[in-house]
Amino acid sequence: MSAKTETAPSAPQRMRPVVGHDNREWWDHINEGQLTIQKCKECGTLRHPPRPMCWKCQSLEAEHMPASGKGIVYSFVVIHKPVIPGYEYPLAVAVVELEEGTRIVSNVVGIEAGDVKIGMPVKVSIEAVDETLTLPLFRPAS
Ligand SMILES: [Zn+2]
Repeated sequence: MSAKTETAPSAPQRMRPVVGHDNREWWDHINEGQLTIQKCKECGTLRHPPRPMCWKCQSLEAEHMPASGKGIVYSFVVIHKPVIPGYEYPLAVAVVELEEGTRIVSNVVGIEAGDVKIGMPVKVSIEAVDETLTLPLFRPAS
């Protein structure tokens, strides 16, 4: 058996996030099942996506704090085409405003894409979408 055969995914996979120095800690928390928000150690300003410098005070010192995972759909689109292997369509792609005030782009699942509404309460659900990728998705809050 060749190495290529051993590492080939069993099904088409989603595009992979680019993980680097600035966001590795955030992804590590996701892989541990915890949604976090980067927080400036100097002034306390929250920011997402993770980045090296505070936009408010220019501090390079930051930490990650646990997020409640609760938020609302701030905006969204429903994608029908183009169909990219690894995704299920129609696909609801939303900007979720977390109750802490930062916003995150994700998918809303567990509901028909056409039933997603602006302002609807959602809750994070950290899920393995394939063998090697875990993502923070959002489901309607009950
Ligand atoms: Zn700051």
